Amino acid sequence: MKRLAILGSTGSIGQQTLDIVRSFPNKFKVIGLASGRNISLLAKQISEFQPQLAYSALKLSLPDKVKFSSMEEIASYPETDLVVIATSGKIGLTPTLAAIRSSKKIALANKEILAMAGEIIIAEAKRHRAQILPIDSEHSAVWQCLRGEKAEVARLLLTASGGPFYHYSSSQLAKVTADEALQHPTWKMGRKVTIDSATLINKGLEATEAHWLFSIPFDKIEIVIHSQSIVHSLVEFTDGSVKAQLSFPDMHLPIQYALSYPKRLPNSKLPRLDLVQVNSLTFKPVNYANFPCLELALEAGRRGGTYPAVLCAADEIAIELFLAKHTSFPDIARIIARTISLHQGIANPTLDEILAADAWARETALQIVNKGSLCY
Ligand code: MG
Repeated sequence: MKRLAILGSTGSIGQQTLDIVRSFPNKFKVIGLASGRNISLLAKQISEFQPQLAYSALKLSLPDKVKFSSMEEIASYPETDLVVIATSGKIGLTPTLAAIRSSKKIALANKEILAMAGEIIIAEAKRHRAQILPIDSEHSAVWQCLRGEKAEVARLLLTASGGPFYHYSSSQLAKVTADEALQHPTWKMGRKVTIDSATLINKGLEATEAHWLFSIPFDKIEIVIHSQSIVHSLVEFTDGSVKAQLSFPDMHLPIQYALSYPKRLPNSKLPRLDLVQVNSLTFKPVNYANFPCLELALEAGRRGGTYPAVLCAADEIAIELFLAKHTSFPDIARIIARTISLHQGIANPTLDEILAADAWARETALQIVNKGSLCY
């Protein structure tokens, strides 16, 4: 029996994690649940899974047996074996570090955390022998391809669906609405990651995540557009052999793999891949010119220091403004680029310096929009 804490339990990954728990009641037990503002769903989850600890960003009345605890307390609770970090943005950063410092296994879906503070997280995980198990589909694919391999990696090929607008011209992109951007062609995901997939910044964050998770330099990471989302990523070894992981695009599988690792569990609820029905798999180069957010994220990852934290913070603000219909879709890239251009980066930052850069970037991104100083 693995005892789980799930941070971000009411989000898309959190709910799908609980689906896996429901499928295997004898293998997984929920010890802690944490949510943001969706307290009505959290209350239902608490009554169904009966955790010992719970947290929500809003006030919540709890049954007597459930103790209200911070996310850090839930992440480091002695009775927990595995902590699922299913939050999005920087909110999961300090709970992840708390879990690492308590030597927990960590199933990580929150990609911004590794982008922002990858160097600190990986160093702390080594020091405390905390294992980080990726949930992001591309990283789960790479992890599965690397299993049992001792050979050196020549290249990682991260696949990208391209999102809903990959074939749009720049004038079409200028007119994209929030509702259109929230419709992803192949994946059902949370709002932030759906917009990040439409701008392709998601793939730049994932390259940074892969860089830290697998100790691969950026010049060995390539991105390829694969609109069917069947091949989740590929690894090329030094002899030229390439391994890929394929499955129907459904996050339940990478979540279950992280939960059950090193075992695989038979689950009849997971969709099976029918390659004859899929019929063809296509791979195309990335159109960097129409999706400047991708290059911005890769550049921030290569520069390192506080730049990825600034990128992530500016992106969060830019997305909020876009979803609130204050700015256009191309403005997301403009706000991020302008914020980064104003930032004085710090190399080898401490956690406090990363958090300070994050706060500075949020403030700066808002000011850029409020003062109308976006560069066109
Ligand atoms: Mg992904």
